[in-house]
Amino acid sequence: MHPFEYARAGDAAGAVAALAGDPEAAFIAGGTELVNWLKDGIERPGRVVDINRLPLGQIEATSAGLRIGTLARMSDVAAHRAVRSGFPALAEALERSASAQLRNMASMGGNLLQRTRCPYFRAETDLPCNKRRPGSGCAAREGLNRTHAIFGWSDACVATHPSDAAVALRALEASVRVLGRGGERSIPLADFYRLPGDAPERDTVLEHGELIVGIDVPATPRARRSWYVKVRERASYEFALVSAAVALDLDGGRIREVRIALGGVAPMPWPLTEAERALAGLPLERAALARAVDGAFSEARPLARNAFKIALAKRTVVRALEIAGGMA
Ligand SMILES: Cc1cc2nc3c(=O)[nH]c(=O)nc-3n(C[C@H](O)[C@H](O)[C@H](O)COP(=O)(O)OP(=O)(O)OC[C@H]3O[C@@H](n4cnc5c(N)ncnc54)[C@H](O)[C@@H]3O)c2cc1C
Ligand code: SF4
Repeated sequence: MHPFEYARAGDAAGAVAALAGDPEAAFIAGGTELVNWLKDGIERPGRVVDINRLPLGQIEATSAGLRIGTLARMSDVAAHRAVRSGFPALAEALERSASAQLRNMASMGGNLLQRTRCPYFRAETDLPCNKRRPGSGCAAREGLNRTHAIFGWSDACVATHPSDAAVALRALEASVRVLGRGGERSIPLADFYRLPGDAPERDTVLEHGELIVGIDVPATPRARRSWYVKVRERASYEFALVSAAVALDLDGGRIREVRIALGGVAPMPWPLTEAERALAGLPLERAALARAVDGAFSEARPLARNAFKIALAKRTVVRALEIAGGMA
């Protein structure tokens, strides 16, 4: 493994300052991603700045919504009473993530910043991968792309984003609070991730040295009736092939308003805006839901081996709507 210096940050401003003058430095929280990257040579930081002593582990529920500190562990957020009752899609997405041991260790901020599970990106040997080594090509474009994107990809990269929680947080209209040298800013999750374009090495809009301090989830009329459905190739300890988060506001038996985000199909949690519009005013009936969801996939662009994701994603959304609406 590449040798590196270890430093421990005492406060958030100190953590930001520690990275500010050092392009080779990286934060570490739970370490469940970063340590793998160090071992596999995906990242080679000269210095690792441990943020675990910062007082950023809170989970606060108020009438305005949830304030989750970046260092709150995935398992603690999933088990929190206010999350389970008021934001069930988030609790479900977290519980379906990784393993119990990983969830006990992994932080919420680190979860949002995990990187793609594309096997070429994660390979121990050096394969063409523009995300890992810009300009080297994309082995997945014509290679093994069964698990890759059907929306939002470019010729430079066809990878998907792997976080389950990010998909739920997108449907719940969350924002990420970030501290940089210029102070704090709030970034809607809708604007946090980048499409690959011709620079797939950058996954998010974060600048080097910016520290995620927390995640805010508003208490909308939809949050309480939200749900997450994850489809994967084995029952646990597996990333999503396709997933869907929905957040529903009902008027009697009809949908007043809905938010939908998909996972496993794009380089970021993918909003299904067209289906959100088509579903407004519809009764909670499977055939009507399926028809409205169907039209939202006209812009899907499957690769050679993943056209099956279109049908699978449509059914996953309908299933999530049925569960959130109390039909299943
Ligand atoms: C075997 C395995 C299975 C998994 N399965 C799933 C799954 O099914 N679903 C799922 O969603 N996830 C899954 N994961 C991913 C797991 O959830 C992440 O590894 C974890 O959430 C990362 O959090 P961490 O605190 O360990 O991050 P770290 O490894 O500490 O950091 C990850 C990255 O985030 C940066 N970082 C961390 N905190 C901050 C901060 N506050 N501000 C700025 N940068 C920061 C670090 O510098 C690093 O670049 C799996 C992981 C493994 C190893
Ligand atoms: S899809 Fe992206 S991550 Fe995978 S090989 Fe291509 S460039 Fe690399």
